Amino acid sequence: MKYDVAIIGAGPGGLSAAVYAARGGLKTVVFEKGVVGGQIVLTAEVENYPGFAESLSGFELIDKMKKQVEKFKAEIKEEEVKAIGLEGLCKIIETSSGTYRAKSVILATGAHPRKLNVPGEEKYTGRGVSYCATCDGALYRDKIVAVVGGGDSAVEEAMFLTRFAKKVYLIHRRDQLRAVKILQERAFKNNKIEIIWDTVIQGIDGGEQLEKLHLYNRKTEEFKTLKIDGLFVYVGIIPNNELIESRIDLNEHGFIITDEEMHTNIPGIYAAGDIVDKPLRQVVTAAGEGATAAFSAEKWIQEHIDKF
Ligand code: NAP
Repeated sequence: MKYDVAIIGAGPGGLSAAVYAARGGLKTVVFEKGVVGGQIVLTAEVENYPGFAESLSGFELIDKMKKQVEKFKAEIKEEEVKAIGLEGLCKIIETSSGTYRAKSVILATGAHPRKLNVPGEEKYTGRGVSYCATCDGALYRDKIVAVVGGGDSAVEEAMFLTRFAKKVYLIHRRDQLRAVKILQERAFKNNKIEIIWDTVIQGIDGGEQLEKLHLYNRKTEEFKTLKIDGLFVYVGIIPNNELIESRIDLNEHGFIITDEEMHTNIPGIYAAGDIVDKPLRQVVTAAGEGATAAFSAEKWIQEHIDKF
């Protein structure tokens, strides 16, 4: 089976590329190894995607995008892509279930949460340590939790957790948050949130369940123990680049370098979404990149149509 466009990853970037490619008349397939939607389905409330003044959940937004993809008859295959090879200009996609050929590929493999890498983290994952407030927040009704990190995710999720927990500590390694101002202001105003500045977590401890954190203040050089019931880790994201690491140009953090048409260094291979080297990681930017990648792929296919 030969496709015009094979999209790897069904997050907002991949689904948006699929809408544009399929609506543009290209034979389109989307491969997804996990859950359709990527990281955004773990977000309880999306309030900055244009067109939805009433905020909606990440899951609801993705459901709408998926329906749109299906309307334009792009195929979504729940198969893990194991390798991408080249045969002239044609791309050979090996998945867990078979081999596919496509004229162009759009990489939208996204990113996953970075771990803290401190003692106890692995042991207490699922026993008090979580990477998803939307999934696990409700377990901490009237309990005390901590969020580690200072970016948009940490601040947003700390706020979300105040719906359940009676107290939310936000532990940040510096004396200034990285999150955008509007989120910072909301956090400062929220009397359930207490920010612990200049502090790193050195260990996660307890019995069967997480009970306490061992903290170190980098300014005062003091050590302290903090009793909590749950820890939510939001210390950034790591690009899912295993598939392409050796051939596609990446920046020093492993994100794909593209030009403004979302073209990578390999002819006919494009990228979109969180995997891309860019200043703003949002659903709206992923959607824009997906649209651009699909448009560019279509143009590139037309220019090389006699070579496939
Ligand atoms: P991020 O912006 O990279 O922030 C990561 C935070 O974790 C930083 O505050 C960093 O501290 C801290 N950190 C990193 N490694 C650490 C470690 N080992 N120990 C303790 N702290 C550590 O990541 P993010 O918040 O996950 O956001 C990822 C991207 O998604 C960003 O581009 C963000 O803007 C976007 N996003 C947007 C929204 C929204 O607009 N609604 C929501 C979520 C995410 P330093 O500040 O000291 O570096």
